[in-house]
Amino acid sequence: MSGGNARLRRGEEDRILAGHPWVYDNELEEASGEPGSIVRVHAHRGRLLGCAFYNPRSRIALRMLSRDDSALKPGFLAARIAAALARRRKRYDLSRESVRLAFGEADGLPGLVVDQYVPEGNGVPEGGGGACLSAQFLSAGMDARKEEIIDALSAELSPAAFVERDDASVRKLEGLEERVELLRGTLPEELVIAEAGLRLSVDLLLGQKTGYFLDQRENRLAFAALARGRRVLDAFCHTGGFGVRAAAAGAASVICLDSSAPALATARRNAELNGLAGKVETVEANAFDFLHEKDAAGERFGAISLDPPAFAKSRSAREAAYRGYKEINLRAMRLLEPGGVLATFSCSYHFPRADFEAMLEDAAADSGRTLRLLEWRGQPADHPVLLGYPESSYLKCAILEAE
Ligand code: SAH
Repeated sequence: MSGGNARLRRGEEDRILAGHPWVYDNELEEASGEPGSIVRVHAHRGRLLGCAFYNPRSRIALRMLSRDDSALKPGFLAARIAAALARRRKRYDLSRESVRLAFGEADGLPGLVVDQYVPEGNGVPEGGGGACLSAQFLSAGMDARKEEIIDALSAELSPAAFVERDDASVRKLEGLEERVELLRGTLPEELVIAEAGLRLSVDLLLGQKTGYFLDQRENRLAFAALARGRRVLDAFCHTGGFGVRAAAAGAASVICLDSSAPALATARRNAELNGLAGKVETVEANAFDFLHEKDAAGERFGAISLDPPAFAKSRSAREAAYRGYKEINLRAMRLLEPGGVLATFSCSYHFPRADFEAMLEDAAADSGRTLRLLEWRGQPADHPVLLGYPESSYLKCAILEAE
């Protein structure tokens, strides 16, 4: 599955030389190879730019793997995976911490996402087994190399279970079908992870994305520190990450709101696992309606987390996304009591920080409230941002305080 060649159109090599890993189909002069094969990539006049996964079915025709021909050598992916793990080991204790082990292009592994979930109380030393891995193979190249990837991760980590969470709709754009499967090992009857002192139930087969949103763990701590003694609303709560954390940090009461009944069942379980069931109420509703109704009723909250799904899934959806974000942010701002805080997020890379900032100013102006920015935040180090590849910088967080 390798050895083909691709040549770019005239002048299209600059972005690639600057480190962006994608070549679109309209930037290609010619290419040969099967979907998912590794090809040598040349500039128009022949200069070798490196190697890439080729997929003639995708608009992203090439995903760069290396700046030379090293990607053609055996063991290349295993070495890339080992390097991604080595970067994490500098910061995290992989025997205990649930973290993202591979973040696609930003780790030089185009289309591969792997999250590790470590059962609480896992006394096994790193490499001795016990972690449950949940992976997404989002490019034809990675999909074709599943076995090699699982073997490489298994050699490093001896996981107890390996789950494929390939129900992401972007797989369609690569010509791949959607699937969810336990590929190896066995899952515990209930997987409970420890996140900075909290016990959280995670469902790798039915939870959203890879099962849980690891990327928000540091932002949850920042929010909870401001929620002590307050009436808290965790809007778009999924399994209650922000709300349960706030309750544990001393919030007076918490409403966890989501439109997904299974997510809310896990949120209740998480409150219970931490002895906080009495403080955490769950509400199944559309957040747009809920925020509107509470505003109309004149209710107030001391701290609100607003963490919607990506409203902009493509560049063309930007305007509709702006309106959606503005609507919920405006409502949330109006719901704050004096001195109340709003932690507001966008996880959509098609809605860049400048748009997010402009939207917040616009919403603040229309809310009639005076708001101060306490802090800008983003994504944790296990979701690295690759310079030259702005798509890797996706999570934006503003923490605001109302007068
Ligand atoms: N804050 C969560 C992650 C949120 S993901 C955490 O810390 O883990 C976004 C959530 O929004 C999902 O759980 C999804 O079910 C929910 N959702 C999507 N559209 C919604 C809507 N219109 N109203 C309420 N919830 C919605």
